[in-house]
Amino acid sequence: MVEIDLNHIYKRYANAEEDNYAVSDFDLHVKDKEFIVFVGPSGCGKSTTLRMIAGLEDITKGELIIDGKYENDTAPKDRNIAMVFQNYALYPHMTVFDNMAFGLKLRKYDKDKIKEKVDYAAKVLGLTDYLDRKPAALSGGQRQRVALGRAIVRDAPIFLMDEPLSNLDAKLRVSMRAEIARLHQELHTTTIYVTHDQTEAMTMADRIVVMSMGEVQQIGTPKEVYESP
Ligand code: ADP
Ligand code: ADP
Repeated sequence: MVEIDLNHIYKRYANAEEDNYAVSDFDLHVKDKEFIVFVGPSGCGKSTTLRMIAGLEDITKGELIIDGKYENDTAPKDRNIAMVFQNYALYPHMTVFDNMAFGLKLRKYDKDKIKEKVDYAAKVLGLTDYLDRKPAALSGGQRQRVALGRAIVRDAPIFLMDEPLSNLDAKLRVSMRAEIARLHQELHTTTIYVTHDQTEAMTMADRIVVMSMGEVQQIGTPKEVYESP
């Protein structure tokens, strides 16, 4: 069971003016295994909110509760969270296998365990035949799959994705969308997905959080959000 509570979360960046909040009074209860999509125009605070959940930004005010535990002050590495970014951030000199294994190696997992986890992720993502390649020898979609693989091997119950498809061409975006939805089914993760693309939000979300200028405008199912009068 993984539930996330964002209780009246605010963010003001250190260099911002006193009353200039990037995120204001963000309030949301994320249910176990739910697929939440944050949608809204550039600059409305989606990334900031996601980064606060990951611990990559401090929370100015409010509480982050994961499974009933207060997490505001937990170090990122101690949060049981996997994050996928827009720029895949792969190591160009390493093979696909080593890219996926890197974090596990740092954590001193033994070799067999690493191989088992990477092989599993590769299988789920259709990368088994590409494990020996370097990122330069992959397509954009394959690179984004490797980035997903690095998140999968972490075995985290929470997935945070920040515009993971926005660097891909339109056709690939559509197929990767389906792939991420399938992964969510298969891995049973509680997922928060950030996008400015309404179609992505509509096709992937259990619930959509519509943001504007740092504030939550609406929370609802795709039907409620996009078919409301
Ligand atoms: P989105 O993800 O919806 O595009 P962001 O969360 O990136 O929005 O940004 C929300 C607001 O916070 C914007 O006004 C942006 O300029 C500001 N902001 C983002 N990152 C920083 C930062 N590191 N320092 C100061 N302001 C920032
Ligand atoms: P890598 O990012 O290459 O996997 P590490 O696993 O050592 O390297 O990660 C460095 C820091 O970033 C750690 O605090 C780790 O918890 C965090 N981290 C690494 N990968 C992810 C990820 N996919 N999602 C969230 N945090 C991550």
